[in-house]
Amino acid sequence: MELYNSIIEKIDGMLGSTQPKRYDYDPNKCWEDVGGNQLIMMKESAYELGGDGKPAVNYACVTSGDYADKDEILVYGKDLDQINGSASFARIVVIKVDILNGEGEEDTEPLFRAIQDIDFVKYHVYPKGYMIRSSSDSYREQVRVSKDAVRKGISFEKVGNSYISQYKKNPSVKAVKVIFVTADDADYAGMRSDAKKTRDITLTLSKILEGMSTDCHSCNLREICDEVEGLKELHFGKEKKEFKG
Ligand code: SF4
Repeated sequence: MELYNSIIEKIDGMLGSTQPKRYDYDPNKCWEDVGGNQLIMMKESAYELGGDGKPAVNYACVTSGDYADKDEILVYGKDLDQINGSASFARIVVIKVDILNGEGEEDTEPLFRAIQDIDFVKYHVYPKGYMIRSSSDSYREQVRVSKDAVRKGISFEKVGNSYISQYKKNPSVKAVKVIFVTADDADYAGMRSDAKKTRDITLTLSKILEGMSTDCHSCNLREICDEVEGLKELHFGKEKKEFKG
């Protein structure tokens, strides 16, 4: 499934000039999860990622290509123990999904499940002392980090492991790359624009997979379908398959 590939290919060019720190996934190094929403009061807060109007971008792309070949966490810029005040922030996820069925044909079902999981995971990771606030436009993700968590050694590696362990509960997910960015010279405006495009593709795909008419002339998703290669083919291919039974 290559719908998101043009977006994935742009990621590397937007992460700033610093060399990333890389961590292989280790399920034993997940940060403690509190299992539900938590409230960190201002007086308990060390700082906010995306606070004071700074950028705070989040998006996740699914692919069957080789853009994520292993489970890993990359950190561009300062880690959680090095930040002193409000900082610019982005969290980008690339998820590799196996979409071939037993006969070696592409099957959109695992892809659809992985896409549903993106939102499920986004709202079901609750690292202790790391209060995530996502806005309704769904591509801004602001995080309040507690003084206590910083004292106890919270890091992007540990939070990243928590995210990856959630994604890997889906057996079709073969690899997950989680990228955290706090570098000052990263292109947050570019990431925000791609976050919006990613969301538009995901919404369109969800609607197509739920089943809808294939009349492009009267369809309000036409703009994104004209722009993103593969969406129309997917919709018409799906209808043909269903028609044949
Ligand atoms: S392929 Fe046509 S009908 Fe289907 S979602 Fe895109 S614009 Fe709409």
